[in-house]
Amino acid sequence: MEIFRAPRVTLIARPEFIEPEHLRVQWQGPASAGERLAEFAGRICYMSQNNPANRSTAEYLENIKKQGHGSVLEHAVYVLLIEGISRSCSHELVRHRAGFGYSQLSQRYVDESHAAFVLPPALLGDAPLEAEWEKEVTEAQAAYVRAVEALMQRYAWITDKVHRRKVAREAARSVLPNATEVKIVVSANARAWRTMLELRTSEGAELEIRRMAIACLRVLQREASALFSDFEIYVADDKQDAARVAFHKV
Ligand SMILES: Cc1cc2nc3c(=O)[nH]c(=O)nc-3n(C[C@H](O)[C@H](O)[C@H](O)COP(=O)(O)OP(=O)(O)OC[C@H]3O[C@@H](n4cnc5c(N)ncnc54)[C@H](O)[C@@H]3O)c2cc1C
Repeated sequence: MEIFRAPRVTLIARPEFIEPEHLRVQWQGPASAGERLAEFAGRICYMSQNNPANRSTAEYLENIKKQGHGSVLEHAVYVLLIEGISRSCSHELVRHRAGFGYSQLSQRYVDESHAAFVLPPALLGDAPLEAEWEKEVTEAQAAYVRAVEALMQRYAWITDKVHRRKVAREAARSVLPNATEVKIVVSANARAWRTMLELRTSEGAELEIRRMAIACLRVLQREASALFSDFEIYVADDKQDAARVAFHKV
């Protein structure tokens, strides 16, 4: 059985910026397409393409965040593939609605007989607790397999095999634990990512989603530092990573 001890976060899409020839900006400093797109959108508001303050993109976006001009950040959309999170973690994640889009592995269609499970961070490194947990999820998975087999018999009259499997799996999944691993594609604009990250990287967040949010933050900071550089990652008193943000939700 595969057990995840950390999430896997992969950037799978980023903005492409096509600068209009008739409204060229006097760019300063290096920047990614998403950062330039946000700067371009901000400069349209004041028609300041000539960059009168001679700001680099990083300086310009720092000021945007400071001023709370968050709508400018909505143009830059980043798509992450998140794997190795539990069903309970994804349930918390999908509560973030504004500016987000999701596609999550379906337990109705996918056979979970060989599903992976996510060890809760609070158990990590405690051998007896880990062993007990592993025993429990193994038993739950065996119960799932038995339920699918029994339900396939019970609904043998359904001639369409795909439909019959769906009927069996959608009922049998009820015995799978919250720890069952899911894979989810998450699209969000930079403003929406910032709002979610502020809530979920904080010390008050549940440990697994906090760990996932920190992993997302690291990917996004690498990709577009000017949009996420005001998040500071630190080790909290509970010895887990957390983050604080300089410019709050706007
Ligand atoms: C530490 C923590 C504990 C939590 N505990 C629980 C819990 O026990 N039970 C529970 O059910 N949930 C819980 N949640 C989830 C929480 O209630 C929110 O659903 C989640 O944080 C998403 O926040 P949001 O609604 O602001 O996000 P989004 O839906 O992404 O919204 C972002 C922002 O857009 C605006 N907005 C969005 N929709 C509307 C609307 N319909 N009307 C007006 N403005 C809108 C608001 O300004 C909102 O802050 C918890 C969250 C955290 C971080």
